[in-house]
Amino acid sequence: PQGTLRDWVEMRAIAGGAGFTFPEGAPDLTWEELRDTAKAIAENLTSRGVKAGESVAIVMPNGRDALNCLFGVLYGGFRATMINLVAGTDAISYALDHSDARFAFVGAAQQALFDGAAGSENIQVVDPNQRAGAAVDLHKVTQQSHALLMYTSGTTGRPKGVVHTQSSLLAGGWTTAVAHQLSNQDRGFCVLPIYHINGLCVSVMSSLVSGGSLAMCSKFSASTFWANVGQSQATWFSVVPTIISHLLHSDTEPDNETRSRLRFGRSASAPLSPDVHRAFEARFDVPIIETMGLTETAAQILSNPMPPGERKIGSPGISFGNEVSVLNTDLAEAARGQEGELAVRGPNVLLEYLKNEEATSSTFTPDGWMRTGDLARQDEDGYVFITGRLKELIIKGGENIAPREIDDALYSHPDVIEAAAFARPCKVYGERVEAAVALKEGSSLNEEALTEICISVVGKFKAPDKVHLMDELPKGPSGKVQRLKLAEMT
Ligand code: ATP
Repeated sequence: PQGTLRDWVEMRAIAGGAGFTFPEGAPDLTWEELRDTAKAIAENLTSRGVKAGESVAIVMPNGRDALNCLFGVLYGGFRATMINLVAGTDAISYALDHSDARFAFVGAAQQALFDGAAGSENIQVVDPNQRAGAAVDLHKVTQQSHALLMYTSGTTGRPKGVVHTQSSLLAGGWTTAVAHQLSNQDRGFCVLPIYHINGLCVSVMSSLVSGGSLAMCSKFSASTFWANVGQSQATWFSVVPTIISHLLHSDTEPDNETRSRLRFGRSASAPLSPDVHRAFEARFDVPIIETMGLTETAAQILSNPMPPGERKIGSPGISFGNEVSVLNTDLAEAARGQEGELAVRGPNVLLEYLKNEEATSSTFTPDGWMRTGDLARQDEDGYVFITGRLKELIIKGGENIAPREIDDALYSHPDVIEAAAFARPCKVYGERVEAAVALKEGSSLNEEALTEICISVVGKFKAPDKVHLMDELPKGPSGKVQRLKLAEMT
């Protein structure tokens, strides 16, 4: 899409429309109101001397204030630095320091968290309701202006600060809107945090691009999910595989009106087990569209097409709005069907990792492909199948084992709510396979039975040597299971 986020917010205000609703209770926020508040916040920040492209931290949960502040920062041409509220004090201190933010918006309930972060005393907290004393000229904004700074979870070293521009953020919303054919008649339902790229781009930016509306909750709750989807009259929702699995095992159901209003639910952030996928659709009769994205690609790079297009269960689909390819070890494009590293090229790809030239240059190939770190193959129709993540591969006696194969075998049993295989360092094989599983309450499955299931699907060599039963698997803010933490936790 052309133009800047400021232009798009202005355009939405002129077109009118519902904007945002909050099923948990806050008053609605129309596009026009959002524009007025965003403009006022932008003017206030400008009058305080915030420079164009400078980081402004947002330390807030989903809701009216967070949206007003986010759009205020974007409208003013600053860099919205989204602080992950559950990343832990060290990661929050790191992000605040590394971003060079001098100003922050902090939610009332997040004040103690903010104060506990090292260096926060040097950052001025701004009241979103404060207005500039006198008229100010806003900074010039271009498509290439920095707009967003979001830190990766740092599973492979120090967190990296992903920088998106005004244009790549818009493109992130656009890839979702195009893939799901969103119109201004659609209303999304969002329970994922907007300090994560999925909540921010898939839900908020796609609504800005499509002119649709969005019902936003502060967090996921299985007991209220369907009631809130129904009450907010949502036509689609965006979740992650663990939420799909929890809904599948909960007692609540959508009523018929809600069910028939829903065009689809969308799954991203981690692989969706084919068994869970099929069971969900069989129980609720709501199609789930599996998609895939990264922080670095302003969320979506792949999606299954909307019906009547063909959905392939087990695949996050084909590219929309960008190009994808599978690269071999020489970084050349692999033949169809061959496994290699998934790469992406297009308008939604990050500008750079902030102050980290080495990471930026090793992420891009000389041909301009961005390497995702995921292993994949593409079928003859262009559908991508993710076979694993380079950094999560289990290498047992020199054999590469994709943990996903074992996860899927475990998910084939209806009592399994969460499952993840992982590598345990081992003297004999270098690494061996173990798995962690959370079971449905009251299930009588035990370790032996779960191991047997794996042996019958993936064979003895790949089956886990040990299965750890846990109440819940460790998850990041987006609901994604943190596989690499499992070895130290069990
Ligand atoms: P870090 O980069 O710090 O390790 P992260 O990789 O979890 O964190 P994100 O950008 O949130 O960072 O996640 C992107 C990754 O999520 C992708 O590279 C891919 O491995 C995974 N992913 C997302 N959607 C899917 C999907 N549908 N199927 C398989 N994997 C997926």
